[in-house]
Amino acid sequence: MSSVRHKPLTFMLSNKIQSIHPSLTLTIAQKASDMVAKGLDVILLSLGEPDFTTPLTVKEAAHLAIESNMTYYTPVDGTAALKEAICLKLSRDNNLQYQPNEIIVSNGCKQAIFNTLYSLLNPGDEVIIGSPYWVSYPEMVTACDGTPIFVQTTLEDRFLLTAKKLAQAITPKTKMVILNSPANPSGQNYNKEELQAIADLLIHYPQIFICSDDVYETILWEGKYFNILNVAPELKPRTILVNGVSKSHAMTGWRIGYAAADKILIAALKKIQSQTTSNPCSISQVAATAALNQHCAEEHYMQQEYKRRHEFLFQGLRSIPFFTILPSQGTFYLWVDITKALEHLNIANDFVFAEQLLHEGLVSIVPGSGFGMPGFIRISFTADIPILTKAIERIKAFIAKNT
Ligand code: GLU
Repeated sequence: MSSVRHKPLTFMLSNKIQSIHPSLTLTIAQKASDMVAKGLDVILLSLGEPDFTTPLTVKEAAHLAIESNMTYYTPVDGTAALKEAICLKLSRDNNLQYQPNEIIVSNGCKQAIFNTLYSLLNPGDEVIIGSPYWVSYPEMVTACDGTPIFVQTTLEDRFLLTAKKLAQAITPKTKMVILNSPANPSGQNYNKEELQAIADLLIHYPQIFICSDDVYETILWEGKYFNILNVAPELKPRTILVNGVSKSHAMTGWRIGYAAADKILIAALKKIQSQTTSNPCSISQVAATAALNQHCAEEHYMQQEYKRRHEFLFQGLRSIPFFTILPSQGTFYLWVDITKALEHLNIANDFVFAEQLLHEGLVSIVPGSGFGMPGFIRISFTADIPILTKAIERIKAFIAKNT
């Protein structure tokens, strides 16, 4: 046997991979699912994943695609049919005009965002992200050699970036701003005036790109959805609109997202996709085409159901002592300030709170620190009202027991 000593493998990994963290939402959800697999009756309110099934017509289209042997590579950037359907959707629903060469279909919105960052960032470029933010934005920026710059928002801002705070964060190194509306985890939605103020500012910075993650577009009961391009079409050459069917059509596992942007940028995204994953799943693309082209009654039903659940969970949680909550305007999340609860319960932080609630109360939620805002928790109402009823009872019992 060789006497050469090997370094532990962890230290052999690249600096790049060592500098990023695994997705907290996915890690926590997996941990809770593992507990369920062991027979524990855990209520899963951690993952942002619709509990509904994919609409029937979408599944039928996918069955037909398999039977018709649509099982080969497709063009790297997606089939012509799906890109046409996306252009039609953007025109019909959002009054935004794109050509197929300004669209790329990716393996979920995540890949579209990652490829965007990969295609635009040079080492040291800054990307402005409002906190609270979706867990993966800063990690993806870091993975692409950029520097995430966090702008702390407050309840008074409705946890959204304001033009004023954004202006203070801009430096000569700013390359991009990420907007997400309706927003994960806060559930808040930019109104037209707020977007206009941001657009009026960004118009003066031609080097700054805007990545607009609109994946919760259709899950909105308060106010109206706008993309920044609806208020400032002149920003089109440097705006990357990202959307997908995961949330709107309960199609998370199919992994279909897309980006719409200037054709030069789309060609760059296509280049990196061609060298990494090639096309997203051919069958999923047929399914997504059906989802965007056909009217799915289930889509409307799901939207109504999220609204009903929100109302129910918001009322249930606001009666819990020491919780401060702003009602959400959309998404399937409630963003809860638990700082008073931590004090009263003498719990060190939101991570410990989430851990104890999981083990003692058998309810899985995500600590706010993962979204850049300690002292908060995110609760997903991706479960029906009888389950949410049980969850509220358990959270109440957990608080009472520890007070
Ligand atoms: N975006 C969802 C969430 O925030 C799905 C999991 C993920 O990719 O983060 O829970």
